Amino acid sequence: MFDQISVARILATPLNPSVSDDRRLWRGESKGEYSIISAYRICVHELLDTSHLRVNGSWNLVWNIEAPPKVKNLVWCVCRKCFPTHVRLRDKGVDCTQICALCVGNNEDSEHLLCNCPSSQNVWNMAGFSQVVSNALANNNDAPTIIFQILQQLSKDDSAVFACVLWSIWKQRNNQIWNNVIDAQHFVFSRAINMLQDWKAVRIVTSKPGPTVQDSAVRSWRRPTTGRVKCNIDASFSPSSDRVGIGICIRDEHGAFVLAKTEWFTPKCEVHIGEALGLLSALKWAHELQLGPVDFELDSKRVVDSFHSSVKDYSEFGVIMDHCNLVFNNYYRNSSVEFVRRQANEVAHCLAKAATLSASFQILVHAPSCIDHILINEML
Ligand SMILES: [Zn+2]
Repeated sequence: MFDQISVARILATPLNPSVSDDRRLWRGESKGEYSIISAYRICVHELLDTSHLRVNGSWNLVWNIEAPPKVKNLVWCVCRKCFPTHVRLRDKGVDCTQICALCVGNNEDSEHLLCNCPSSQNVWNMAGFSQVVSNALANNNDAPTIIFQILQQLSKDDSAVFACVLWSIWKQRNNQIWNNVIDAQHFVFSRAINMLQDWKAVRIVTSKPGPTVQDSAVRSWRRPTTGRVKCNIDASFSPSSDRVGIGICIRDEHGAFVLAKTEWFTPKCEVHIGEALGLLSALKWAHELQLGPVDFELDSKRVVDSFHSSVKDYSEFGVIMDHCNLVFNNYYRNSSVEFVRRQANEVAHCLAKAATLSASFQILVHAPSCIDHILINEML
């Protein structure tokens, strides 16, 4: 009825006692719930042939410009040839003049308005880009190629200034048409620079790192506070043996080894599912040991974020995380589940790696030699 691969997948699906009924999951979303945006994505990428809509070009040069999104959108519009200049509007049947609003001497297409118009050339001169613009104009005659060539030659900072000047020239043209306001050419340039500086200043303020735990505290392993134990958990994925190894290590308030556990399952699954199963296993095992308050630590941000999230997730991963929450809420008081960097989770990582090679599951009452040196270092 099923092929070999499907059989292996079905047999490998972890059965969870908290799930009694089957339900349909939407494969377009990681959490299994239908959304219009994911359906659109599937339609566009999988069901429809959209290859005829693709336009060749160095698009990363456009999207990597460090400038406000409205500026990048404008550059994108020009390069996709959907920039609403007079010539283009007339091509689309709009009854309007095709004369350039700035010089009133030529047809207003993207090449002319943004590069060739005497008014714009004065602005490029003030911005120090006249050479690069005229070189590009000499070699090419359509706006996308001109812009891609210019972006290719400019540094990151210059690309941002160049794109903002394009935006400011377009604004100058619109001010002239819609508000009957003539922006002086030096103002066109300074508006671009001021806008870019303001945008950068806001970004610096909003992206200043706060006193987050991740950066300082959890780069190296730390002992739990008095009266608590720490339980580090990790999963390791071995393609050669098609196994997922789980390593769990418990240490006391002095940093001394208490117990460790290694186990594995097959076949290999997605990383976040393996890490989530590791947490579930650790929560169950540590509860059996009746250790008191436990600080659980693992280096999977996705698992820890999901553990603390209240967003409903119907996927297999979500079900495992629900189970983790259930066990934690039922059996643990004054305990925690936290994310740590990989460097602070070395012991569990080594155990998980060893687990993929091990013949059977093991509960270790003495520290195995593979983690000896790490335990000693981390006790110091
Ligand atoms: Zn003009």
